[in-house]
Amino acid sequence: MILLKDAKEILSLQGAALKKGRGIKNEDLSVLKNHSLIVDKEKICWIGELKKLPSDFKKKIKKEISLKNKVLMPTLIECHTHTVFAGSRSAEFEMRLQGASYQEISANGGGILSTQKAIDLISKAQLLNLTQKRVNQFVKQGVSVVEIKSGYGLDLKNEIKSLEILKQIENALVIPTFLGAHAVPKSFSSEQEYLNFLKLKVLPEVKKKKLSQRVDIFIEKGFFSKDVAREYLKHCQSLGFEITIHADQISLSGGSELACELGALSADHVIQLSEKEIKKISQSEVTPVLLPLADLYMRCAYPPARKLIDSGARVALASDFNPGTCPSQDVMMVGLLARLEMKMTLTEVIVAYTLGASYALNLQDQLGSIEVGKKALIAILEGDASDLFYSSTQNPISERFFQNKVQKLNSAEF
Ligand SMILES: [Zn+2]
Repeated sequence: MILLKDAKEILSLQGAALKKGRGIKNEDLSVLKNHSLIVDKEKICWIGELKKLPSDFKKKIKKEISLKNKVLMPTLIECHTHTVFAGSRSAEFEMRLQGASYQEISANGGGILSTQKAIDLISKAQLLNLTQKRVNQFVKQGVSVVEIKSGYGLDLKNEIKSLEILKQIENALVIPTFLGAHAVPKSFSSEQEYLNFLKLKVLPEVKKKKLSQRVDIFIEKGFFSKDVAREYLKHCQSLGFEITIHADQISLSGGSELACELGALSADHVIQLSEKEIKKISQSEVTPVLLPLADLYMRCAYPPARKLIDSGARVALASDFNPGTCPSQDVMMVGLLARLEMKMTLTEVIVAYTLGASYALNLQDQLGSIEVGKKALIAILEGDASDLFYSSTQNPISERFFQNKVQKLNSAEF
């Protein structure tokens, strides 16, 4: 057993966890002062004041770590990223700034399809190397759980290659998601034909090799329509996959509604919602995942975070890191935009990036708060919680507790 003692404060988020991430007030951070905690087998097994430490625990402590003047909080969780890719789309970024639309870029062989070419040409070892470096970039900022979607392979070989390398990623808990339905490759004549191919050839392989338990789809004009997606997602659910949807980003295409209908874990982007969808999603178990850094890059509207939260929705925040529409991994900037542009409170941002994100990944029983029984994945701050999501260049998270060790995040290891 390991004792973590003398922390100035622990943002336990116990109150937020009790409310399942909805209707969050400042007191739901449930700040514990002068508390210590005990970790056994990478799980939290006791939290309290040191003087009240039960004697049977005392005997079993093998290591004591002092965290004087430090603040502890649950690890940040990136619940929506496209971290496994090759190539660069910086030229296309300039095109977009000069007025080309996402659909136009896509129609000209740019967009997702250009990353498809790059991923086909790169070796598995090179792809692993690139992806590991990017994961380390998240880790340095206080993120120890990273969801990563496939979706640039778009054929059997490269979708499987993308998911297989995720099993070898180190330094973070990686949650792989199969996003074969990211775009229709040129070699298929319709979305239906491509989804049939995924159903027949790719999904059985993903399942057999246990590469992912989650399926995502991009529901949008020019990509996949709601009705075709419904049938595909139902098939995935019948195979035991959890589902999540890229929903209502560029146009109101019915993704959020379908997420509610099918009981998806999350509906992501959710920019174009009307009052009807806001009400529906807020009353459902679907977690809307807000991705404001992508919205900044896309120069589009931000999602109606305030309306969602005030209607009772539990929201999550993530970067949407990808080579096309969000090439930045700046975690502090995500939260900063949520505060500046979406009028979320600092407390709401902290809860959305931890507990809210754990719900989007169906990991709320293991992560998202510092409570007995949960995994000991802890961010350690130098300074105060008010320094979080304040500066895009300064991050108060300087260390973490991961795999039974305190690690400095600015070390050469990452
Ligand atoms: Zn995305």
